[in-house]
Amino acid sequence: MSCQILKIALDTPLDTAFDYRWVNPSDTEDLPKVGQFALVPFGRREVIGLILSVHTSTDVPADKLRDVIAVRSQLSPLSAAWIELCRFAAEYYQRPVGEVVIPSCPKNLRVIKPTALDKALKKIAAMAPATSLSAASPLELNTEQQQVVEALSAETGFKTSLLFGVTGSGKTEVYLQSADRILRRSIQTGEPAQILIMVPEINLTPQLETNIRNRFPDLHIATMHSQLAEGERMQQWLAAHSGKASIVLGTRLSVLASMPYLKLIVVDEEHDPSYKQQDGLRYSARDLAVWRARQLDIPIVLGSATPSVESWQHAATGRYRKLALTHRAAINASLPAVGLIDMERNKAPDGLSAPLIAAIKLRLEKGEQSLLFLNRRGYAPVINCDACGWISNCRRCTAFMVLHKPERRLRCHHCSAETRIPSACPTCGNVDLQPLGRGTQKIEETLQQLFPAARILRIDADSTRKKGSAQIAFDSVHRGDVDILLGTQMVAKGHDFQRLTLVGVINPDTALFSQDYRAGERLFAQLMQVAGRAGRAAKKAEGNASEVLIQTRYPAHPLYRALLQHDYPGFAETTLKERRDAGLPPFIFQALLRAEARELQKALDFLELARHLLADDSITLNDPVPMNIVRVAGVERAQLLIECASRAQLQAFLKPWVESLRKMKSRIRWSLEVDPVDI
Ligand SMILES: [Zn+2]
Ligand SMILES: [Zn+2]
Repeated sequence: MSCQILKIALDTPLDTAFDYRWVNPSDTEDLPKVGQFALVPFGRREVIGLILSVHTSTDVPADKLRDVIAVRSQLSPLSAAWIELCRFAAEYYQRPVGEVVIPSCPKNLRVIKPTALDKALKKIAAMAPATSLSAASPLELNTEQQQVVEALSAETGFKTSLLFGVTGSGKTEVYLQSADRILRRSIQTGEPAQILIMVPEINLTPQLETNIRNRFPDLHIATMHSQLAEGERMQQWLAAHSGKASIVLGTRLSVLASMPYLKLIVVDEEHDPSYKQQDGLRYSARDLAVWRARQLDIPIVLGSATPSVESWQHAATGRYRKLALTHRAAINASLPAVGLIDMERNKAPDGLSAPLIAAIKLRLEKGEQSLLFLNRRGYAPVINCDACGWISNCRRCTAFMVLHKPERRLRCHHCSAETRIPSACPTCGNVDLQPLGRGTQKIEETLQQLFPAARILRIDADSTRKKGSAQIAFDSVHRGDVDILLGTQMVAKGHDFQRLTLVGVINPDTALFSQDYRAGERLFAQLMQVAGRAGRAAKKAEGNASEVLIQTRYPAHPLYRALLQHDYPGFAETTLKERRDAGLPPFIFQALLRAEARELQKALDFLELARHLLADDSITLNDPVPMNIVRVAGVERAQLLIECASRAQLQAFLKPWVESLRKMKSRIRWSLEVDPVDI
């Protein structure tokens, strides 16, 4: 009878993995391996955990040690490198390792009865590996693209390349041809290879997925994003884990995909905030991807037209290699002209100024498409009573209830509370309640009045609640069934609309005066991105008449001046200088402790206590402050910002500090975010 001690990671809020005894009564079974799943008792339940290490002894007393029920030996073990990646993520972001390892694997792997797993594994076994790559029809590269592909293909070891390419410069083609070279080499040598391509949004995966499938018809492509059904998610995960899928296309969660033959990582739109997970393990998928590439000694490409200033700084210091695509790829396509409409001089009672209306009219006459971008959904951000000053506040949040006119509801975008629109003011009875400000629904109404014959489509979180409806909406734009497309940031990203020649941006100014120091950077990226939707295809006959019009009250603002010139480098350098002068990231490192309670004072008291738990001269622990939106869903929130000049010193402080915080066993709910993005 042989006996082993297995250290097993479970998805529990506790910080340790647990020791279990594995007994093999007849000595016939294979010894359990690191990286295998095992069914174990936990409290009164049975749960699936992952074997992190195998030992011959343990400090746990024999009477407390429980036995493993079964080892999932039908699944090949997760690699040591993958476990190491999870361990790093857990340590860096100060979470229990089980919370990284377990949720990053599909739920169906972790059910007690593995029938579905056995079935899925049979399907995977039946997948024939690619033995050839048929001559795909790559697009012809321009000189710049050619140089970038050559530069990327020259690397086999770890190197981070920042691919700075203007919108429409053909970054995707560069990714695909780089992937093509690696996969061809792999088929020739017989050494398996896999490529991970990450994108920020689920909405962008179908278009890219079609592209990739058309280009690599002989290969298995796996996709990973949060909207896959569980069965599908397991199938895709297994295709990657088995090595059968040569390319994995996914959103941020795919950074933790098991890919034993990973040879190249691409992070497209690397600046995008969606790469940051905002709850649980608050990780940056882009940063983890760079770590993973270094661990595996493989190249990684971060692509963007507006890189994050962090990445720009790394390129400036030589830590990243900068590769640039400065021209649009399509022949005759150039960057659209950007114009500013001064809203101090152009009044627009219904949200649209005369110059913008004239520009839309011109497109309608020519049979071209217009896109209007407004980052505020709903009809109006608030309704108010002129007689007594009442406004539609949410009762549970320090936020307004937003008017949604088609649904005849007031809706809070923070806690999702809903009420009917009151027929009269709740305080004074005045029946003349007025909407203040404008959202996408209001602009849609204005457009319908101005252009009754035009086909107008609104795309935002409200119009696309049903699964798959966003895709249907985008398809209709691509088919040309839409004259005027109107939407929030959902319409800004990724899509190439062939007949689109006008982009109008309505009131982006609020971000200029935000307390969040990253707001300017985000606005610039967003405007460049939405501007990039215009004129991506060459207009042969009349040359390129694409234009971007921005309605603003601050046409002299440096951000808009840089935008007029399409001058991202200038904008990035100014921003970096400001950050350096102000002592902000990337020149310092931060962590944020948040606490929430029924009463704000309790949250603040907890943070004050936390602040004095541990002294360290290299660490600045700022005063606890209420969060910008203090109350959400009846809970009040406060935060404590931790700053340090060195990443290593910050990490060295956080580990024991978080341990002490856990030991406090406070009833206050708290969470820690390392490298926070919303402060
Ligand atoms: Zn009133
Ligand atoms: Zn609310």
